[in-house]
Amino acid sequence: MTSVKQLSSLDFTGKRVILRADLNVPLKDGEITDDGRIRASLPTIEYLREAGASILVIAHLGRPKGERKSELSLKPIAERLGKLLGREVSFSSDINQALKVTERAQPGEITCLENIRFEAAETSKDDAERLELAKRLASLGDLYVGDGFGAVHRKHASVFELASLLPHAAGFLVAKESEILENLTSNPLRPYGVVLGGAKVSDKIAVITNLLDRVEMIAIGGGMVFTFLAAKGYKIGKSLCEPEQFDVVRAILTRAEQRGVEILLPTDVKVAPEFKDINGRVVGIDGIGEEEIGLDIGPQSSLAFANAIKKCRTVFWNGPMGVFEFSDFQEGTRAVADALRQVDGLAVVGGGDSAAAIRALGFADSDFGYVSTGGGASLEYLEGKELPGLVALS
Ligand code: AMP
Repeated sequence: MTSVKQLSSLDFTGKRVILRADLNVPLKDGEITDDGRIRASLPTIEYLREAGASILVIAHLGRPKGERKSELSLKPIAERLGKLLGREVSFSSDINQALKVTERAQPGEITCLENIRFEAAETSKDDAERLELAKRLASLGDLYVGDGFGAVHRKHASVFELASLLPHAAGFLVAKESEILENLTSNPLRPYGVVLGGAKVSDKIAVITNLLDRVEMIAIGGGMVFTFLAAKGYKIGKSLCEPEQFDVVRAILTRAEQRGVEILLPTDVKVAPEFKDINGRVVGIDGIGEEEIGLDIGPQSSLAFANAIKKCRTVFWNGPMGVFEFSDFQEGTRAVADALRQVDGLAVVGGGDSAAAIRALGFADSDFGYVSTGGGASLEYLEGKELPGLVALS
């Protein structure tokens, strides 16, 4: 991947800068539950402000699919941004209002535009529609800074087309994230291990397939592991399962064996009779009852995963090992996080969900080599794909 243009390549003095940030934070009942992504956007905003620019922040929240949905308004996010910056951040509820504000914006002023995905064209599959929206957005600024790492794998108007219409550079976050991913891709310290979890195996098949040629060990937990166990003939009760992936999963297991890549699967799991925040019971993987649901890896597996992780010099982790949102099903994720922070080398936590999980379990970002803000984007990078938002900033 060619490297992205740095902020230092542009002169921001007196310029109106459009900053595409990633402020897609998790919300519960309208409250922000983890503001990691907002915090990650601060260094670039501070830099642009100090460099004498006025800043229009463009970002998305959730998937409103082109409709104005009040529960997905960026207003509370803009307020939190203002609090974290200790400065006023004004809010424009649409592009026309933003045009009036940006026309007379003074150096140092910061405005946040409403959820850009309220505009259907932002995510449209039609190139012309996206370009049309990008042109309207381009009238709001002189320069473009791409710093929304969590969205760089999307070919969206504010991520891809807009960058090409204005002189552009990558913000500090995008520059740092791409550097870390590049480190993972070219010449990682060995052994190199990957830990994957989360809900759906179909989301991770491509990355597993690509990584089979690059790593020594892949540990698999979370809901996705039950498709592996079922494909190997184990009875998995009512656990998550994607039978249409059985053939792919079996092919992965065969190829891993041929290449000498260790695929570490749990030997025990914690199950419950319902998908609820109740106490579970630990069983061997051959002891899951017909009505039971596997909600975490078991203690024996946690220990084996932790030992394997600690032997690695490079580790990438994406996806919790269990339903960490339920108090009795956090231990697998906790064990993996704890092992990761003991790695003698580079340990990368990849992704919004995994990052939120470690913070919810009481870990700090500084416990790890790097905590990425973009799960989907990191995975696609490691799949070997070109990411539109990085290509546009190269
Ligand atoms: P993902 O977005 O694919 O990384 O998935 C994250 C979600 O996977 C979390 O919300 C977890 O609760 C969920 N998850 C992890 N393990 C399981 C499991 N065994 N069964 C169901 N969901 C799970």
